[in-house]
Amino acid sequence: MGLLTDGSALSWEETKHYADYVRKHGIIQFINIFNKYKDRQGDPFKWGDEVEFLIVKFNDKDKTAKLCLKGDELLKVLNEKEENDPTGVESLWRPEYASFMIEGTPGKPYDGFFDGLNKIEINMNNRRQEIMKLLEPGEVVMTLTNFPRLGCPNFTEPPTYPTPNVGITKSLFLSDETIANNTRYQTVARNFVDRRGEKVISNIPIYRDVNVARPFKENLSIYGDDGTSEKLTKENHIYMDSIGFGFSCCCLQQTMQAYDLKEAKFIYDQLAPMCGIMLSLTAASPFYRGYMSNVDTRWNILNDIADCRTKEERGITPLKENKFLINKTRYNSISSYLSEQADKYNDIPLTYDDNIFNQLLKNGIDCLLAKHIAYLFIRDPLFLFSEKLNLNDEIATDHFENIQSTNWQTMRFKPPPGNSSSSIGWRVEFRPCELQITDFENAAISCFIILLSRVILAYNLNLLIPISKLDDNMTRAAKRDSIRVEKFWFRKNIMREEEGNDIVDEYAEFTVNEIINGKEGVFIGLMPLIYSYLGNIDIDTETYCKLKKYLEFIQRKASGEIITTASWLRKFVMTHPDYKNDSVISDRINYDLLKKIHDIQTNVDPCPELLGTWRMSKKKL
Ligand code: ADP
Ligand code: MG
Ligand code: MG
Ligand code: MG
Ligand code: MG
Repeated sequence: MGLLTDGSALSWEETKHYADYVRKHGIIQFINIFNKYKDRQGDPFKWGDEVEFLIVKFNDKDKTAKLCLKGDELLKVLNEKEENDPTGVESLWRPEYASFMIEGTPGKPYDGFFDGLNKIEINMNNRRQEIMKLLEPGEVVMTLTNFPRLGCPNFTEPPTYPTPNVGITKSLFLSDETIANNTRYQTVARNFVDRRGEKVISNIPIYRDVNVARPFKENLSIYGDDGTSEKLTKENHIYMDSIGFGFSCCCLQQTMQAYDLKEAKFIYDQLAPMCGIMLSLTAASPFYRGYMSNVDTRWNILNDIADCRTKEERGITPLKENKFLINKTRYNSISSYLSEQADKYNDIPLTYDDNIFNQLLKNGIDCLLAKHIAYLFIRDPLFLFSEKLNLNDEIATDHFENIQSTNWQTMRFKPPPGNSSSSIGWRVEFRPCELQITDFENAAISCFIILLSRVILAYNLNLLIPISKLDDNMTRAAKRDSIRVEKFWFRKNIMREEEGNDIVDEYAEFTVNEIINGKEGVFIGLMPLIYSYLGNIDIDTETYCKLKKYLEFIQRKASGEIITTASWLRKFVMTHPDYKNDSVISDRINYDLLKKIHDIQTNVDPCPELLGTWRMSKKKL
């Protein structure tokens, strides 16, 4: 989304006052973009990844590992290079929600699949090194979906203290200093609470190991709770009370450019059924607030915590001030497909703004895209800067992006940026994956999804199933060890020829292994199709070997031969000598775990259990 501009943020009351204004101009801006680019064709296939990094500080004497609140400081230095040489840098750096996070992307998108295949792992590693060079002794950069002791007493360096009665989030566990020193993020955090009218919360089931109290119920008064939070807790659940618990989770995203608008819609639709499958395969976050939970991914937490719906919108009180009853929070899986041929699978009732929808139709936008935009635009802006209110809608896209970028869905449909010299076309972003420990894994996952998009296009595959089933898949994917114990809805015949059956006959439940590797006589499998595609194109041996390592890694992960990051993390904790079967990740366990992770990330520890054996021959990075 480019460098975020700072300015004078308006309060929630002021932002609310301008909400219709922002929507009105956001829609005009979208119409302008659409009309400018609807017939644009021939954009080359380019793609890029995004990785979110954590900064961790080890204290080897006390045996502690803490989150280091250095993101803002690091970003200043990292951004200097870009300012001096915007097109020549190897990586681009952007702020993230938390002051211990930064986001890095390649300096330029990759030119085609193979360019990316050859560059991505090295580029990811260079990003790591670039940050490492700026750190002090004891500090390290990490890729890890969630810091296990996020929100435990004394988890930051320097120490900070939550302020339950004052400040932005009034969390019992996370101080406001853990939010990046960036007006946009601070305003979003504040407006989440102000809009909702109460704290955002998430209750995630605790893993009920033998020594977990029955029932498990925390005494929150020790954190300064006056009884308000206690009422919001649930027995046998881990209680979280700030958007920080969701937005501090790190993820891995891929953006790809399409040939034209039609292809962008096609890729958006076809990759949507992969979201649950990839969430299950990349599951990497079983720990929250120092406890072992009974879920393996960040998904439910983000789902809960990104809930800025008012009581009216949630259906608790009758609609008076608000227009819509809204059944999903802002962080969720997509609710509609965009291509015409996919419309028959749109089986979720969409809440959308009729006036906006009609205005879009009148301006030549097709029904499905119009519904999608009118659906995004049931939301209010979550931040607004006084300097950025009056804009030239012919060139600016800020009001459109304001609403678009605060709808955090599994897939994002990205129109060309209105004001650029237009080297960027229609793009699609794949957003469900959890971040893995090593560059090898993150590169493998990114390459797999990008290559799959090429195979879908080349073979004109059809992965569509009713969209309600995708929601269901996301719920299943978040469960503990879903890759081994759950089945997922998937289309039975993805070769396009066979159509015309009843929709209910078109899909069935499969394991991730069956979907990826195939099941004789039942499902063809995505990997066999990928290999068949590769057999039909020219690749040199070296490139093929590299790709094969990535694909085999995904195959073995799907088959369970290599365990998920989440399972590996659980196993480490449960076999740690200090672990007391109480689902608690103590300071010492956290320290040893993060040390181990650091060793794996720097290739000191080959960890074949997690990675297979391919990396073992590599030199220390
Ligand atoms: P956001 O946070 O909104 O998803 P970012 O700017 O952080 O956007 O990341 C955009 C991603 O898109 C990066 O991986 C980048 O390399 C990639 N990208 C940039 N330009 C193009 C393009 N023309 N086509 C495809 N991908 C692109
Ligand atoms: Mg980004
Ligand atoms: Mg990000
Ligand atoms: Mg983020
Ligand atoms: Mg992104």
